Amino acid sequence: MNYHNITKDDMLNGDGLRVVLWVAGCNHQCEDCQNPVTWDVTGGLLFDEAAENELFEALDRPYISGITFSGGDPLHPFNRSEVFRLMKKVKEVCPDKTIWCYTGFLWEDLKDIPEISYIDVLVDGRFIKALKDDKLEWVGSSNQKIIDVQKTLESGNIVLHFDNSKIIKGAISC
Ligand code: SF4
Repeated sequence: MNYHNITKDDMLNGDGLRVVLWVAGCNHQCEDCQNPVTWDVTGGLLFDEAAENELFEALDRPYISGITFSGGDPLHPFNRSEVFRLMKKVKEVCPDKTIWCYTGFLWEDLKDIPEISYIDVLVDGRFIKALKDDKLEWVGSSNQKIIDVQKTLESGNIVLHFDNSKIIKGAISC
């Protein structure tokens, strides 16, 4: 797997301060994607042992809430085995840290994959230009859902970690 960056005090891609791994590879081709440079699975740098050590050292700091996998698409078929291996390691090495994952796939495409249970919050769906709204929390367009994976797996129905429709209806000011 290749990656583009590891950001270490990120406030924009999930709860709290987070480490973000920006992986290479995405085949969703959303119009007006902010990161088309990340589409190529061979772009960026090889995610090697040094990068993995850097990632876990950053995650180990006490004020870091967890890790977010973004990109690109961490759940591009080419990336899945490596991303799931890293998620499993996070759960083993630092079980108090939460795992967020952004993907262009829908929950319905992913819900039967056993390793999806490593994720605490999944932000799903392609970016849709016509539904773009800068007021939304953690997403670019209003079709994208912020899913509480554990509660969703327990109940069998999608449970949101955060409901952006409240912002759209004006119930929350931001
Ligand atoms: S899923 Fe994300 S990275 Fe991929 S094309 Fe769409 S906006 Fe860009």
